[in-house]
Amino acid sequence: MNTKIFDITQITPLTKTCYKLNSGQNIHFQMKRDDLIDPQISGNKWRKLKFNFQQLDTDKYDGIASFGGAFSNHIAALSAAGKQANIKTIGFIRTHEIDINNPTLSLAMQNDMQLIALSREEYRKRHEPEFIEQLQIAHPNYYFVPEGGSNHLAAEGLAELVEELKQQSISADKHIIACAIGSGGTISGMLDAFEDMNFIGVAAVKDIPLLTELKKKYGTRLTIISDNLFGGYGKTTDVLNEFCLDFQQQTHIPIEPIYTGKLMHTLMYRFDELVNDDKSLVAIHTGGLQGIKGLNYRHQY
Ligand SMILES: *Cc1c(COP(=O)(O)O)cnc(C)c1O
Repeated sequence: MNTKIFDITQITPLTKTCYKLNSGQNIHFQMKRDDLIDPQISGNKWRKLKFNFQQLDTDKYDGIASFGGAFSNHIAALSAAGKQANIKTIGFIRTHEIDINNPTLSLAMQNDMQLIALSREEYRKRHEPEFIEQLQIAHPNYYFVPEGGSNHLAAEGLAELVEELKQQSISADKHIIACAIGSGGTISGMLDAFEDMNFIGVAAVKDIPLLTELKKKYGTRLTIISDNLFGGYGKTTDVLNEFCLDFQQQTHIPIEPIYTGKLMHTLMYRFDELVNDDKSLVAIHTGGLQGIKGLNYRHQY
């Protein structure tokens, strides 16, 4: 296996930028450009996979298996990392059948990932130890990573992201960090590694138990916004699509509607409410741009 693909040669840029609202107000902020890490192994998925790949016991395992929806950024990233590192991958996909025209799944297949369809009922059991055990018996040489890649080794990758931010002079007394929430692994990894830093988390999924648990664990260090979902997980609207395009035109930073678009829309339109005068905003660009192809594909029908 070649894990050199995860060696950091250059830390990702922290870009100073500005977005002008329709009202004329200019919003100044910085963006941590994890979208630039790798064209295929996107942003936070790269951070989360890094130590899972580097610490894989290759005497015991000859592949990595994980779970995801049919348009999952994690599945796309895992397949690309497997291809580049020369290690086998399996994706258990929540779908009734593998659609070879789906851009995410066809990319995964090009990356030689083995795709296995799981019904909704089966997929619901993805976190249950007995279910995972059954899959492990059927695929004995595979190391299983949870959906979204969020496990204890993912946390190490996010601690590395925090180290980069500190090197780039981001500090708890001057800044506040914002990031999108899916499974919550990215924001909790950063919260755990960045003592005293306050965070804003913008939910891309209406997972009330998860958001309640995060709030309970991190208290006042974490502000969660869960009411700017534009129809729910994986959904978008014309307003959100237009915002993403306008944001990209103004800042030259591409974003997508599923995670980073919801994040940036919330931050720009609720800036005064969310960011105190004495703090400056750092938004984490978690990548995910492959998801745009999936959205376009779904809209053909
Ligand atoms: C997966 C993903 C997220 C959510 O990350 P979690 O760690 O699951 O909360 C955010 N942004 C992008 C672009 C993603 O692909």
